[in-house]
Amino acid sequence: MMWFLSIVFLLGLSIGSFINAWSFRYKTSRSIFAPSSCFSCGKKLTWIELVPILSFVFLHGKCRSCRARISFQYPLVELITGLVFVFIAYRFGFATTNYLLLTTHFVFWSLLIAISVYDIRQTIIPNGGAYFLAALGFISPIIFGNPEMIFQLEHIIAGPLLALPLACFWFFSRGKWMGLGDAKLELGIGWFLGLSLGLSGMLSAFWLGALVGVGLIVASRIAQHFSFSMKSELPFGPFLAFGAFVAWFFDLSIASFLYV
Ligand SMILES: [Zn+2]
Repeated sequence: MMWFLSIVFLLGLSIGSFINAWSFRYKTSRSIFAPSSCFSCGKKLTWIELVPILSFVFLHGKCRSCRARISFQYPLVELITGLVFVFIAYRFGFATTNYLLLTTHFVFWSLLIAISVYDIRQTIIPNGGAYFLAALGFISPIIFGNPEMIFQLEHIIAGPLLALPLACFWFFSRGKWMGLGDAKLELGIGWFLGLSLGLSGMLSAFWLGALVGVGLIVASRIAQHFSFSMKSELPFGPFLAFGAFVAWFFDLSIASFLYV
């Protein structure tokens, strides 16, 4: 069990590393496969400087050549992805041998992390990521050994029905409260999780978003160099992703929301 857990965690760390590289290079001229280099001095990084988390800790978050600060995003995204992978493996039981199921979940939640990181950095949800997620969500019953389900109304409507309220928010606020990307993202989440879990995930996202929004407004009143108001833009993608994960991991049925 311990070795399985370690492998899953290390796999998550490496995927997290990859997500970092992608988030900095997507829509730039730099290839995702080009060797990594320092953003400040351009020096190519050696393999020892690319070890997830550890290199950041040992280098005290600074480039070895020019001492420029390395973004805290690197170890944070690596750690989150590593932990998410461990949670996924835990959810299926460490003894699971259904590697197809496990891999599909690794791919799905990694994509959501990548899209969230990009949304936080650029406040936009990349179309390619959202469409790939939607396709994966739609065909997921086939992968999970339930192929006849993709013709069932319950499955077909799950994505669009969950995306609809977000699309309405986007339409009626003219893109101020919500981006159309959030609706596209919810399409994949809805198809992957199904209507019930998808709805609890979305409600969790709204609760979390409201809490964090209020927290940021309070923080901006206290801290001088930080400003956030009702008019500030808060990327909603990360909340949709986190809410979905919480709903899936704890198997939150929609009924659990009616009694709180
Ligand atoms: Zn440097």
